Amino acid sequence: MLFDVIIIGGGPAGLTAGIYTSRAGLKSLLIEKGLSGGQVATTERVENYPGFDEGVSGAGLSGKMEKQATKFGLEIIQGSVRKISFHEKTKKITLVGDSSTQQEGNQEYEAKSVILCTGAHPRILGIEGEDKYRGRGVSYCATCDGAFFKGEKVAVIGGGNSAVEEALFLTKFAETVHIIHRRDQLRADKIIQERALSNSKIKLIWNSVAKKIEGNDSVKLLHLKNVKTSEESVLDVQGVFIYVGYNPNTEFLKGVVDLDKDQYITTDMMMSTSVPGIFAAGDVRANSQKQIAIAVGDGATAAISAGKYIEENFS
Ligand code: NAP
Repeated sequence: MLFDVIIIGGGPAGLTAGIYTSRAGLKSLLIEKGLSGGQVATTERVENYPGFDEGVSGAGLSGKMEKQATKFGLEIIQGSVRKISFHEKTKKITLVGDSSTQQEGNQEYEAKSVILCTGAHPRILGIEGEDKYRGRGVSYCATCDGAFFKGEKVAVIGGGNSAVEEALFLTKFAETVHIIHRRDQLRADKIIQERALSNSKIKLIWNSVAKKIEGNDSVKLLHLKNVKTSEESVLDVQGVFIYVGYNPNTEFLKGVVDLDKDQYITTDMMMSTSVPGIFAAGDVRANSQKQIAIAVGDGATAAISAGKYIEENFS
């Protein structure tokens, strides 16, 4: 089936692109791997998205965006894209087969234009025990797993906005939240830092890196090393939340569009990638500031660019 626009990824960038293209009367399909909303859907509270002076839950915000997009006719399907080919005038999108039905990956869609909004996924630390205890104390999502740690001690690794905001969220449940940071200064915004530093449940451990996670059925101990003194220590914790940045979801795009050295998609200001008719928006884009407001702006720009491309090339 031929669509005017296929959007890959259903976070704020993809949903906004969908609002704009479908409202402009373009036949639009959004393909999302999991549930709509992307990373925002697993964010407890969003305070810096304009229009919500009291803040808004991440899931609430993305739910509203989805409702708004489908109201204008955006079709949303669940699926994982395996391949994009563009040798003809239209682009072909092939989905990964459905393993539950033993189907081969031959589900194909065609579009005049494609908008890539696949975002990024949490970076792993790669330390001993991280994989073994994933889901048994090791987590990359405080909103999803925080409530399992009522009255317990947890560690958050990282010093950026994600780590510090999620550490603050974890104080709702945990008795103590240790933030382990490899330097002596947090990267997080000042306002968030101040909140963390004045919260009596949060203990900062500076200049330290995690070396190993140990436990039996679940996490019991986190081994640390001070990078200045080389002193080693062991922390008694039941949960380890890892927030050390993100990697872009561009594995399936190698050899399709140009990527930078960190595998993010390079675009111009109109969100055009190296391939005419393929646009990118949101966190997957090189040099994006990784903010919801920015992803939304990117999504709108990409949608307008896709509309212009279709008008110039298909009418
Ligand atoms: P980030 O800003 O890249 O911070 C990653 C943190 O992890 C840094 O403190 C970094 O240390 C540390 N780190 C990286 N690799 C490490 C390793 N191997 N071992 C130990 N520590 C390591 O990532 P983020 O916090 O996920 O945020 C991503 C983007 O989203 C940022 O642009 C952020 O501003 C944005 N964001 C915004 C909001 C908001 O506006 N409310 C909320 C969440 C995220 P160094 O500091 O030493 O590099």
